[in-house]
Amino acid sequence: MPTSVGHALGGALAYLLLRNQLPRRNRGLFTTLMAAGALGTAADLDFAVGPLLGQAPGAFHHGFTHSLGFAALVAVAVAALRRAGTGSAVSPQTKARAEAAAWSPGLIFAVYSSHIGLDLVAQDFVPPIGMQLFWPLTDQYFGVPLHLFLSVERDGPEILFGWGNVIAVAGEILLLLPPFVGLLWWRLRPGQPWDASVTALRSTVTASSR
Ligand SMILES: [Zn+2]
Repeated sequence: MPTSVGHALGGALAYLLLRNQLPRRNRGLFTTLMAAGALGTAADLDFAVGPLLGQAPGAFHHGFTHSLGFAALVAVAVAALRRAGTGSAVSPQTKARAEAAAWSPGLIFAVYSSHIGLDLVAQDFVPPIGMQLFWPLTDQYFGVPLHLFLSVERDGPEILFGWGNVIAVAGEILLLLPPFVGLLWWRLRPGQPWDASVTALRSTVTASSR
């Protein structure tokens, strides 16, 4: 499995790849990319399930939260919650803005599933090897024989923050940061729908600095 750094970059990358129109304000874009990063790491919350049930932290790791079925459930649930929130908006303008900013179930599914995709191509030395990819249809674990990312060592704080994981994070940044920066630059280039607000912001800044 990659670290949270790799998964956050993966989630943000999936968002940039699939979302047609980016949020119009700088702060809005930053918050949205952070949300995509958080959704990209969410599957590893399964580390909390073991202790909640009196078992080891890794007892449910790579289980149902790392399945396409659970990704679909998350997509439907988040989209439904969002729709309920939008429905209660007070003014038509607020409602229209919320609807424009809303993520489709497909986008939520893709950003969440970016985690599964990265885990699939990472080293995995902890049995059972692989993930319950097709839960709830089957509890079997599936993996692929391709390892682009190093395994995270997590046997205690010293190892967790040791050189092995520093090298793992460096590899993730090396592989994922260039496409992220490149895609962000491409999506923010002049002429994009987002650009109108940037132009307005720039002219405001230029006018106030004169
Ligand atoms: Zn994971």
